Amino acid sequence: MNDVVLFDNLPTACGRRFGIATLNVPNALNALSLDMVQALTPALRDWAQDSGVVGVVLQAAGDKAFCAGGDLHGLYQSMRLHGTGPNPYAHGFFAQEYALDQLIHNYPKPVLCWGHGIVMGGGVGLMAGASHRVVTGTSKLAMPEISIGLYPDVGGSWLLRRMPGRVGLFLALTGAPLNAADAIFCGLADVHIDVAQRANVMTALGAARWDDLPCDAGAQLSKLLAAHVTPIVAPSKVREHFDAINALVAGDDLLDMAQRLRTLDSGDAWLQAAGASFAKGSPTSAALAFEMWKRVHRMSLAEVFRLEYRASLGCCAHPDFAEGIRALLIDKDRNPRWTPGTLQQVTPEWVIEHFDTRAAAPHPLAVLNQTSSQLHKKAGLTSMTTPTTTKLKVAFIGLGNMGGPMAMNLHKAGHGVTGFDLSPEVCKRLGEEGAGLRIAASAEGAVRGVDVVISMLPASRHVEALYLGVNGHPGLLSHLPAGTLVIDCSTIAAASARKLAEAAAKARIACLDAPVSGGTGGALAGTLTFMVGGSTVDLECARPLLQTMGHNIFHAGDAGAGQTAKICNNMLLGILMLGTCEALALGMANGLDAKVLSEIMRLSSGGNWALEKYNPVPGVMETAPAAKGYAGGFGTDLMLKDLGLAQENAAAVQATAPLGGLARNLYAAHSLAGHGGLDFSSVLTGMRPATAQELDLPMKKAAKW
Ligand code: NAD
Repeated sequence: MNDVVLFDNLPTACGRRFGIATLNVPNALNALSLDMVQALTPALRDWAQDSGVVGVVLQAAGDKAFCAGGDLHGLYQSMRLHGTGPNPYAHGFFAQEYALDQLIHNYPKPVLCWGHGIVMGGGVGLMAGASHRVVTGTSKLAMPEISIGLYPDVGGSWLLRRMPGRVGLFLALTGAPLNAADAIFCGLADVHIDVAQRANVMTALGAARWDDLPCDAGAQLSKLLAAHVTPIVAPSKVREHFDAINALVAGDDLLDMAQRLRTLDSGDAWLQAAGASFAKGSPTSAALAFEMWKRVHRMSLAEVFRLEYRASLGCCAHPDFAEGIRALLIDKDRNPRWTPGTLQQVTPEWVIEHFDTRAAAPHPLAVLNQTSSQLHKKAGLTSMTTPTTTKLKVAFIGLGNMGGPMAMNLHKAGHGVTGFDLSPEVCKRLGEEGAGLRIAASAEGAVRGVDVVISMLPASRHVEALYLGVNGHPGLLSHLPAGTLVIDCSTIAAASARKLAEAAAKARIACLDAPVSGGTGGALAGTLTFMVGGSTVDLECARPLLQTMGHNIFHAGDAGAGQTAKICNNMLLGILMLGTCEALALGMANGLDAKVLSEIMRLSSGGNWALEKYNPVPGVMETAPAAKGYAGGFGTDLMLKDLGLAQENAAAVQATAPLGGLARNLYAAHSLAGHGGLDFSSVLTGMRPATAQELDLPMKKAAKW
């Protein structure tokens, strides 16, 4: 199968480059599928953060269309399958499509979009947010959703509200097509450049130097495009009929507008066709579009996307959307039977129902503002306005060495955190230190009324017991309403994570495994790395919270994949720590100063995280657990557990991990010697039996090997 989006680079004279994304399904008029959205989103994110990338060119293969809409076939199948019930495909499609549209709107670098040929629905969503939108002589833009039982989504409600006069409402009700001049008049495009000039524009992009700040690159690109602008031949129909359009959709009564549109008698074919499209369109779509027009007036773009997300899922749960697609694309009879059949029959209750909550809480697009702000920060644009972030109600279960500081970071960021830990001492400490961190008397009490549950427990058995139940006690899943998001950050077996995810899915609870790396220092500083397993949509829900606790958030794959990544990492860490201890112990036995030796190895080929960030010798590094008698930190028994998980996993997939096995035995001996509760770097003390006494540490005896 061909790649649905092609990615390339255009080198420029200054050594930086433009990223080029080409929609590549010309046979389907480049209609935007979920695969395309999922290819474009990470590429755009990467380019945003890559200082070698000046900006992005977004274009499409074939002459006929930039992008003729969204994935109507996929949505139709999903509506057939799920009826009016929860529709996970639509949920994922709209959430990811709108998140991509918003990403383009807020992109921290110039985006040049070539909107040639047909640009409809989903195509308008991609193009409208670009900073530099080019139309050509062939461009034909439209938001014709009224003909398929939808309404202008993909941010269309926001765009239409910002057009001159009441043109936006007219376009929403009629789906009237726009030529290049119309698109510029309505604010959907910036410049008209003949298709024949495209190669020259690309050559000029490559020949230019773009050494300045990203915001100046935008101005430079505007100048470059201005030098290639070609005069428009066909005049704007919207401009020509501006007064008539305003009169047709004047007032606050949709029935009056409908009457005027239906009885429209114009000598102009474009205007007449607009009236006819309204008359044939879905009455529910007309009412919904008018409702959106009224509602979005003072909303931000992110708020509009969130509202559209609800309304679009509402359309999937009502009859006209599926019927419109059937009539246009499936049976192609072009004779949709709308329900209800007339605008008079569309009640206010029917319209309002479209906005009911039909998806997981928190809203999957709650992340929109924050994500774009992060990209601006990473691209060096720090002067952007501070975004608003949705504050969530969070239950945090397990407030130990890691969970405690993680919960505190969420609390400090303004989320409503209720914590619970089995240890009364831990609860007392957190309650006091937490200055406002609520502590519940039980896990069940902590999760009451929350949006999200996060857990940070020792091992698989604790996590399974908590969520799935034990000894006849029902687990937490039975206490959580559908739509809650569960994020388990503990390090547990991938199989346990999958078991939890399956049980959660049955209860319609969103679930992610999100183990962490970065140690207690990272938990305190909010710089953890998260390795996430689960669906993209659920990860997007979780992202604002994870970003409060960590810096790097990786999507490792489906349920359990985060845990697999984590045990690979920890097996390596366990081995590196042993190697580091062994080298340092050898040096010390030869009379070398541990600090000097550490510095030598740090700057030589022996450098590694255990040596540099977590030095096992007391006195070398003030912040490492070794400096506190190996208290706190990452317990030897926890490392032992992770190495055990790695061995079990290796056996299950028939891989070999002999060094991991050896490391496990060494930590096991250390634990058996009574040091399981001390930080794993205390394994150093077993390397030289005298070390503990020499260093005046509270070790009873050292493991011997
Ligand atoms: P910890 O022992 O300090 O904390 C675990 C806490 O969970 C304890 O306070 C315990 O009382 C509590 N607990 C156990 N069962 C419970 C239940 N049913 N309900 C409520 N509380 C319960 O351990 P930690 O160091 O915070 O590690 C937690 C997890 O994070 C482990 O899976 C570990 O492998 C992983 N991890 C730890 C580190 C680290 O540096 N410590 C780093 C990365 C990952």
